[in-house]
Amino acid sequence: MSLTGNHLIAGIETPATGTPFTARNPATGATLDGQFADATDEQVEAALQAAEAACDPLRLSSPETRAQLLDALADEILALGDALLDRAHAETALPMARLTGERGRAVHQCKMFAGLLREGSWLAPRIDTAIPDRQPLPKPDVRQVYSAIGPVVVFGASNFPFAIGVVGTDTVCALAAGCPVVVKGHPAHPGTCEMLGGAIARALEKVALPAGSFSLLQGAGHALGGALVRHPLTQAVGFTGSLKGGRALMDLAAARPSPIPVYAEMGSVNPVFLLPGALAERGSSIAEAYLQSVNMGVGQFCTNPAILLGLNGPGWDTFTQRTAELASGVAPATMLHQGIAEAYEGGTEAWKRLPGLQALGQSTTAADPAKTEVPCQIFTTSIDQIENQETLHREVFGPCSIVAPCSHRDELLRFAHSLEGQLTASIHGTPDDLADHADLIHILERKVGRIIFNGFGTGIEPCPSMHHGGPYPAASHSFFTSIGTASILRFVRPVCYQGFPDPQLPAALQNANPTGAMRLVNGTLTRDPIA
Ligand code: NAP
Repeated sequence: MSLTGNHLIAGIETPATGTPFTARNPATGATLDGQFADATDEQVEAALQAAEAACDPLRLSSPETRAQLLDALADEILALGDALLDRAHAETALPMARLTGERGRAVHQCKMFAGLLREGSWLAPRIDTAIPDRQPLPKPDVRQVYSAIGPVVVFGASNFPFAIGVVGTDTVCALAAGCPVVVKGHPAHPGTCEMLGGAIARALEKVALPAGSFSLLQGAGHALGGALVRHPLTQAVGFTGSLKGGRALMDLAAARPSPIPVYAEMGSVNPVFLLPGALAERGSSIAEAYLQSVNMGVGQFCTNPAILLGLNGPGWDTFTQRTAELASGVAPATMLHQGIAEAYEGGTEAWKRLPGLQALGQSTTAADPAKTEVPCQIFTTSIDQIENQETLHREVFGPCSIVAPCSHRDELLRFAHSLEGQLTASIHGTPDDLADHADLIHILERKVGRIIFNGFGTGIEPCPSMHHGGPYPAASHSFFTSIGTASILRFVRPVCYQGFPDPQLPAALQNANPTGAMRLVNGTLTRDPIA
């Protein structure tokens, strides 16, 4: 499949006339096919005007039509076949097996949101019927349901070109909610973005929804992202990426004359706590699972376990010895792009200059910079050092991690108290350990989006109960998730109708309950119609 390098604005390919850029294969250094360019201000304007024009037809379309759109999108993603996988592999160096699995996740997400739309209860309809003869004042008829907020700008992440990319959760749940989407393509995989953008345009055409419901603008600099966030028609932003990028966009959005929410999922150090029973029972097997998690995807997961603490003793020694041994056997591997590899080198070099931080284990084979390779590096230090060095609380994206022994459980608790907001925390223990450490869990409940028992945060299940987020700086809004069905709630807001005649109400609020959704009627959850 040949790439045009064009932007896609409301289904129309628009020539790339701005500052040019190309994609690079990180594993070989080769420049890849396709000449891309930064979208111009006029193209930003055209994409957002088209999105605004598509707003009402899209948000007022039936849930079934939007479910059909997502089913069609799933088919279109699969129809791109091996060409999509080949291009994504060339642009990201992610292994084909991983990309095939991630494509499956993107397709699953489309189907999951289609199912959500067909079932309907996500709209959370609430109805309080009138009591005209209530004393001393009559009670009005009041009803509430969620409504789409308008054009959403989406920034995908470099490490999930499908599942958190152009067709990732942000785009899919915004379209499901009835919001037009303008995606800013990721500059590290523009060809993959172009192919996936075409899939969305074809899916919209198949179900006869307005082409302006989706645009893809390519760009390799911050100017385009800034222009999209500042544009007055943009109503919300979905972002997955670095803390630096997310924070910059949050600040831009807050400084607008009319501020808008930026739902940013950012970095995290995902602390791991090894409790005494688990260390005594299985220090060696925990080390194996830990190393696997640290190195999964060359450590390029926001849920990578970057800090691990355990209680000192024989179990801790078994754990650290096995960790050092395993780290030395990890082959260096290619990162997603040069910038990420440089940030990894810079971050780990800065750690090495800190007093009291030593290498525990690292890849013994040399990394090849021409292949954008980096080694696995595990460090050890003291709990005091971790607490006192702010830089150790900041994510270094890649296959590195720091372990520290604690001499007493109070040190574990003190560390947990000192944490900033995190996407995940993991506790390894026996059931007795867990019962003895209820205080640790209570601290983590205020710090973390997802607490994992006897596992690691890498590998996120996109399901209704998933929460992928956390207090700042893990995410910009701690209430919202960017993965799983609840992510749709970022792109709607409640609208309340008082005293409305039944036919003029949205379908989900009408007495007959034509959508069949679960509703809160006079304080009781029910699917029953109102007599
Ligand atoms: P990134 O460098 O923050 O870039 C993400 C997107 O934002 C790109 O399109 C980038 O394009 C744009 N951008 C970045 N800074 C910007 C700014 N100041 N103004 C306007 N646009 C800006 O993220 P990445 O490339 O995916 O790098 C990996 C990072 O993502 C890691 O820190 C990792 O932890 C994080 N991540 C988080 C999650 C999560 O779920 N929380 C998942 C995956 C990755 P331009 O450079 O062209 O402006």
